[in-house]
Amino acid sequence: MRAFTFEKAASPAQAVAAAARTPGARFIAGGTNLLDLMKLEIETPTHLIDVNGLGFDKVESSADGGLRIGALVRNTDLAAHERVRRDYGVLARALLAGASAQLRNKATTAGNLLQRTRCPYFYDTNQACNKRQPGSGCAALGGFSRGHAVLGASEACIATHPSDMAVALRVLDADVETLRPDGSRRTIPIADFHRLPGDTPQTETALQPGELITSVRLPAPVEGRHVYRKVRDRASYAFALVSVAAIVRRDGSGRVALGGVAPKPWRVDAAERELPRGARAAAAALLAGARPTGQNAFKLTLVERTLDAALTDART
Ligand SMILES: Cc1cc2nc3c(=O)[nH]c(=O)nc-3n(C[C@H](O)[C@H](O)[C@H](O)COP(=O)(O)OP(=O)(O)OC[C@H]3O[C@@H](n4cnc5c(N)ncnc54)[C@H](O)[C@@H]3O)c2cc1C
Ligand code: SF4
Repeated sequence: MRAFTFEKAASPAQAVAAAARTPGARFIAGGTNLLDLMKLEIETPTHLIDVNGLGFDKVESSADGGLRIGALVRNTDLAAHERVRRDYGVLARALLAGASAQLRNKATTAGNLLQRTRCPYFYDTNQACNKRQPGSGCAALGGFSRGHAVLGASEACIATHPSDMAVALRVLDADVETLRPDGSRRTIPIADFHRLPGDTPQTETALQPGELITSVRLPAPVEGRHVYRKVRDRASYAFALVSVAAIVRRDGSGRVALGGVAPKPWRVDAAERELPRGARAAAAALLAGARPTGQNAFKLTLVERTLDAALTDART
């Protein structure tokens, strides 16, 4: 690990000022992703700003009937929160499908959104990787690509986004709230938060340098059965090959988003119009334009079957 300096921010303003002042600075929350990447020298921050003391550890009801989730709320606490379990079941289920109990005890809302890809070539510093080292190439193209994206990828990068929580937030139409180094605040719809790789896969989100996530806002609850289905190689402690977050009403209409298939949670308006007709029609719309590699075409069938199982869960 490279040497770095460390400070504990006493206020949000102090945290963003420190980030703006120090090139190469990074915020650290639970540390469950960032520290691993630092040990492998994939991330080499010169300065760490600990944001754990900023008071963003509360879940509060908002005036419009929604919920404001502090950036530092631990995944375990969020999944167990009474209103999340009652009104936003898809979120509780997605959180509990992620990682392990120990990791969820440390992992935070903001850190989960910003966790980096699990592409094995990104983690192997002997391999070409445009995301880790822009311009070096992509070893996954023509390499081992069973877990990679079938949607939204580019010639520069075919990695998926690994978060389960983000898929549920997408189906709930969440907003990400931030504080910028100049003191201004902004709200980023979750649909626009993660970016597709294009020619610059190293830029993964809409955040600007030094921008701090303060909270995630959920709108008022959406009527319907909340379902999260995750298919993975092991029953626990593994990332999604395919996941489905869905909210389905009695008449079969509703919302659906996919995880494990694209560089961001994948939601398509046309698929929701097809949802009452069943999994096959909705899956076809979700997968429009899919470009699998030679090794991950199985994900196309898996999407339809996982969606079918999710819709069956919603009916029972
Ligand atoms: C073995 C293993 C298995 C896992 N399995 C799953 C899984 O199945 N599903 C899943 O979804 N996840 C899984 N995870 C990932 C885990 O959920 C993430 O590591 C965790 O959510 C990251 O949160 P953190 O608070 O520890 O982030 P950190 O590691 O502290 O930070 C991650 C990133 O977020 C930035 N950051 C943190 N807070 C802020 C803030 N407030 N504003 C701006 N930037 C910020 C940091 O600078 C860093 O870049 C797994 C992890 C491991 C190690
Ligand atoms: S898929 Fe993306 S993360 Fe993986 S090796 Fe290629 S550029 Fe790197």
